[in-house]
Amino acid sequence: MSEEQFRCGYVAIIGRPNVGKSTLLNHILGLKLSITSRKPQTTRHQIMGVKTLEKGQLIFVDTPGIHSGGSKAINRYMNRAASSVVHDVDVVLFIVQSLKWTDEDELVLKKLKDVEAPVVLLVNKVDQVSQKGQLLPYISEISEKYDFKNVMPISALQGDNLQELEEYLIELLPENPPFFADDQYTDRSIRFLVAEIIREKLVRELGNELPYQTTVEIERYKDEEKLTRINALILVETKGQKVIVIGDKGAKLKSIGTKARKDIEALIDRKVFLQLWVKVKSGWSDSETSLKSLGYDSDIN
Ligand code: GDP
Ligand code: MG
Repeated sequence: MSEEQFRCGYVAIIGRPNVGKSTLLNHILGLKLSITSRKPQTTRHQIMGVKTLEKGQLIFVDTPGIHSGGSKAINRYMNRAASSVVHDVDVVLFIVQSLKWTDEDELVLKKLKDVEAPVVLLVNKVDQVSQKGQLLPYISEISEKYDFKNVMPISALQGDNLQELEEYLIELLPENPPFFADDQYTDRSIRFLVAEIIREKLVRELGNELPYQTTVEIERYKDEEKLTRINALILVETKGQKVIVIGDKGAKLKSIGTKARKDIEALIDRKVFLQLWVKVKSGWSDSETSLKSLGYDSDIN
């Protein structure tokens, strides 16, 4: 047989918060599945995106950032989820930011210690580097630290080098038939995506005022004849946070709701009636039990 076999496998994206993991995934998938923002730690779930090319299929696993410090249950959860995923994939993409190396990057690098899969170093945000000559010493310094399979400078935002990256990644995957139909770009339920959209609007509206522990639960999702009715619960940790989220005479919440509704309507291509509630769930981020009840299952640890 002269024809090359189809390849398919899992690709993990790891890196400290804010290096551009979600941006990369969004650009490759051409869909806004994962949440991006200037605020670190917006990605708290593993999001799977699927990209099918002629020669193979890439299944991306976006990991939560690996957080330094923090003894709360949610930090422990996120660290476990992020470190276990690298042992269960065919390729690991380790993203760093051009010319920047922090203690957090060092921590993420430590998670790669016993990884058997090839690790590709992606040096992101090269568009921000005016003198490209500065990249070489930076890259060679990081390359001393680990035996990377390859190093690729990219701009996740502008798309520089991403097509080359996709084609290269396919070569690293095992021969397999596609695991997903090529129009199936995510295995996440619509409910999950809806919750993520609302969360993104919260982050964008409130910025640093919003503690990252804030979570969104979809209480009701009902397709009716003319529209889809959605009730979502925004869970915050204190009364003060509740006041902030609601805003003066409910203005903040209204604006969050309007923006989220528009995105949800675009996602499901239906009219949406969205109702948002804010509730104080005091101390939930410090309890393993309530983390589980909110869907942070231990089965991906
Ligand atoms: P994550 O926390 O690793 O998922 O990072 P995000 O994808 O949310 O990106 C964090 C910030 O960096 C956002 O403001 C992005 O727009 C920005 N960003 C990501 N990639 C690039 C890039 O290639 N160039 C520039 N200039 N900014 C980027
Ligand atoms: Mg992210």
